[in-house]
Amino acid sequence: MTPAGDIMQCSARKPMHDQSPTLSVIDSPAAGYEDPLDLMDEIDRLKTEQDATILAHYYVEGEIQDIADFTGDSLKLARDAAAVENSTILFAGVHFMAESAKMLNPDKRVLIPDLLAGCSLAESCPAEKLDAFQEKLRQEGRDFVTVAYINTSAAVKALCDWIVTSGNARELIDEKVPAEKEILFVPDQHLGRYLEEVTGRKMILWPGACMVHEIFSLQDLLRAKRNNPGSVVIAHPECPQNILDVSDFVGGTEKMRCYVQSIEEPTKFLVATEANMIHPLHHAAPQHEFIPVPGIMTDTGETCACNRCPHMARNTLQKVRDCLKTGKPEITWQPYFDKAKDVLERSLLK
Ligand code: SF4
Repeated sequence: MTPAGDIMQCSARKPMHDQSPTLSVIDSPAAGYEDPLDLMDEIDRLKTEQDATILAHYYVEGEIQDIADFTGDSLKLARDAAAVENSTILFAGVHFMAESAKMLNPDKRVLIPDLLAGCSLAESCPAEKLDAFQEKLRQEGRDFVTVAYINTSAAVKALCDWIVTSGNARELIDEKVPAEKEILFVPDQHLGRYLEEVTGRKMILWPGACMVHEIFSLQDLLRAKRNNPGSVVIAHPECPQNILDVSDFVGGTEKMRCYVQSIEEPTKFLVATEANMIHPLHHAAPQHEFIPVPGIMTDTGETCACNRCPHMARNTLQKVRDCLKTGKPEITWQPYFDKAKDVLERSLLK
């Protein structure tokens, strides 16, 4: 899937003499295209004017990460959000992340560049369905604790006992969930299966999955390994089990970053997570080469872009600028935020 920013840059490359009066306004290079450097300057100015801090997830376009005050995975950004002093937070990521930032900062204005930036994983677990399933388990007399991955809506968080990220899930389950309790893990079945393995705890798994990590193909990965002898495979635990089985390192995005930084010898890494993650990896350890997985490898080493998250790609520099300028869209407080806030705070901040 091509990010919106790329489409705009492609149209700008069209030579001026190609324009004709019959072309629609969308075909004109002048329409819609704005120089990224001008946009960055404007965003810097608006940030000061609006007393704003920008947080950007590792999966958004690199140019947005470059203008952000904080970048990171969900856990790091939730903690960063809690420490922000400015009156406005702009969250370049997806909806559930901006909701978390609001819950941790009830008195601040929290903006998101595109309200439609959702998450297939969060959407796979609607609050009403989880509520009904928990009730069924209770009726069966099951004694369980609900542990939710942070990729869930605030309404789902309000129904859970603990919230985890791929960065702290293992530690939190080891420390906080009594051994005699069953664990209902939602919504990511792949992360849940991985956690069963590393914690040794049997879990009831919700059948959700991330549309980006789900499509990694074992065959493509093995082909990439064969084409890149000596390469090291690093994978996110949201990947299916067959991908994790052939990976050399499994960890969330922040752990991946620390891992490649810890290796001095220039190395070729095959990266099995959202492809924009390559941007912070390059920054952290420029001595290495990073190749997104999977990809239809061409002779020139190019790969397809099917490992891009279409929700994260809704964030563009233009939308960041517009959002700061108009103060919209804004995440507003919902009644279930009160309960979800308590769960979030005790899980991620204490
Ligand atoms: S990469 Fe997957 S889990 Fe992350 S926001 Fe996109 S759909 Fe959700």
